[in-house]
Amino acid sequence: SNQNLFVALRDAFPADLDRTALETDDGLTYSWRDLDRATAMMANLLDSLELPAASRIAVQVEKSVEAMVLYLATLRAGHVFLPLNTAYQSAEIEYFIGNAEPAVVVCSPQNHGWVSKIAFTAGTKYVLTLGDDRSGSLLERAAHQSDHHTPAVRQDDDVAAILYTSGTTGRSKGAMLTHGNMRTNAVMLRDYWQWQPDDVLIHALPIFHVHGLFVAIHGALINGSKMIWLSRFDPRRVIAKFPEATVFMGVPTLYVRMLAEPTLTLAQTAHMRLFIAGSAPLLIETFTDWQRRTGHTILERYGMSETVMLTSNPCGPDARYGGATERRGGTVGFPLPGVTLRVVEDDGKAVSPGEIGGIQVRGPNVFKGYWRMPEKTAEEFTADGFFKTGDVGKVDADGYVTIVGRSKDLIISGGYNVYPAEIEGTINEMPGVAESAVVGVPHPDFGEAGVAVIIARPGATVQPERVIADLKARLANFKIPKRCFVVNELPRNTMGKVQKNLLRERYKSEFA
Ligand code: ATP
Ligand code: MG
Repeated sequence: SNQNLFVALRDAFPADLDRTALETDDGLTYSWRDLDRATAMMANLLDSLELPAASRIAVQVEKSVEAMVLYLATLRAGHVFLPLNTAYQSAEIEYFIGNAEPAVVVCSPQNHGWVSKIAFTAGTKYVLTLGDDRSGSLLERAAHQSDHHTPAVRQDDDVAAILYTSGTTGRSKGAMLTHGNMRTNAVMLRDYWQWQPDDVLIHALPIFHVHGLFVAIHGALINGSKMIWLSRFDPRRVIAKFPEATVFMGVPTLYVRMLAEPTLTLAQTAHMRLFIAGSAPLLIETFTDWQRRTGHTILERYGMSETVMLTSNPCGPDARYGGATERRGGTVGFPLPGVTLRVVEDDGKAVSPGEIGGIQVRGPNVFKGYWRMPEKTAEEFTADGFFKTGDVGKVDADGYVTIVGRSKDLIISGGYNVYPAEIEGTINEMPGVAESAVVGVPHPDFGEAGVAVIIARPGATVQPERVIADLKARLANFKIPKRCFVVNELPRNTMGKVQKNLLRERYKSEFA
């Protein structure tokens, strides 16, 4: 049988293909039939180019329904989708195109000049364009194609997409995800998050990243659910759409921005069923503020480009999943069905329950390896087939997983392990503090010392000496940051993740 992910998604389309599949913010609607025909036409266009099997189709375009159609058409034609962050400029695009050697590059019409120069130099055969207003050569050429197409036969183990990681800890790596990785994860989440026949998803995330492209799009499609498609996140527009929707997925910063809007109320969110957060830690304060303002408890989950989704808080009572119902703030819930998760010490020995260590995972969702990085791939897998996530955390006696940071962000001060998340949590509870980040920088006596970087609440003043003094009253001395700075904002990448490597760089000479 054909294990092409597209086939599983297409099979989940509702029987009535004339129903609405997508509704955009500029008033366009797409039926399920439109999606089927458009993906067929684009897949036929790709077929007509007679590309070698498993060709990469690299795509850097603004978010649009047609960009999603291009993703689905790439699956349908059996090629490998390779999305690129729209923020990338020429030096970055040169690296990615050189590294991925795509057969086809699709870019925004206004970037065609410089992108095609880079692409043709790298040996790419075809450069097509796609604007967010249905302009460009891709659609012009697809328009001449038949709207019938038999999906290419692919097996579970065949690569469907290469997803470059967010580059939070260093240079992005291309994670090779297979049809099987993504299908099993999507099907499992359909049950775990209890998708309902009449669910409607608000899609307001970028689609070059695992969250918006896979978790959100697969989630809606595999359930045959309608999407309200917003080209970018605007807190007021999203809140205005809540009465027409039931599911929302966002990174924590999106929730913080919505909380700043007076239109976010109990009544406005009454029709919603499920709010999901992930990609970065959700502050406890955001979790409780959201509960207070809307009556909804955000469901936090944890995953990564290399593995799609790994853990999740429970959605509701379900005997198959142990029956736990509490969405516990500050945790990322339980390992998802099929995922084996363990916490180990540096030497690979399992820690006792509740102890902190490196998180390793195994399951049908775990990727095939990093594109053209066999050594790196070998390094990140254990002899018994577990992937080292690079995240540090613990599993409580009752099974909830907590992420305490990334191994690269761990601070070793005077021989002691200091987990930034613990210090940050304590600082965040202090009056006047909105948010904080703690990083380790070189120190002549201690090896490394912590530096706390704090954002004050609007209108509040935070005294660095006061923070240090308060911390001393609450935590062991070796954990106390040796310097504290109050700044206006933390450096973040496009997914809203704090870039601690930039902070380490900024403060590296503090104790030199
Ligand atoms: P790079 O690997 O290039 O440094 P990245 O790890 O940020 O970048 P992604 O694959 O986009 O790239 O992100 C996965 C990471 O995001 C996880 O390893 C984890 O550190 C973090 N993450 C995801 N969900 C959560 C969550 N709910 N809480 C805390 N951290 C999370
Ligand atoms: Mg990573």
